[in-house]
Amino acid sequence: MTARNSKRDRMTCLKTHSWETEQGRILMTCHICDGDIDVKRDSWEADHIIRRVLSGDDSAENIAPAHTKCHRGKDSKTSQDIRENAKGKRVRNKATGVERKSGFLQSAKGAKFNWQTGRYERRANDR
Ligand SMILES: [Zn+2]
Repeated sequence: MTARNSKRDRMTCLKTHSWETEQGRILMTCHICDGDIDVKRDSWEADHIIRRVLSGDDSAENIAPAHTKCHRGKDSKTSQDIRENAKGKRVRNKATGVERKSGFLQSAKGAKFNWQTGRYERRANDR
């Protein structure tokens, strides 16, 4: 689950966000702390601004550079992240029909809901 920082993403990120100073340093701006990233000196990673599971994509607009230390801080599995990831998956699964909507089970053909037993029952003579 760490494909988010692939070489291709980093390349896209570098091409899209870096510039060269008069001194020949290649800089990018960390999108988390707004500090400079000197690509030759600093450890950095390509970060997806919108997480992939929340329909973030791999386009250049959705990838921004971040210091490794900033990125790791953001990426630590907080409960917020876990909730968002889980929600993203649920929404996607529902949209594609992978996950059934919650609620009453669909009744089997010919079955009747018996309120006394709380379950669907099929009478023998219905078959
Ligand atoms: Zn930073």
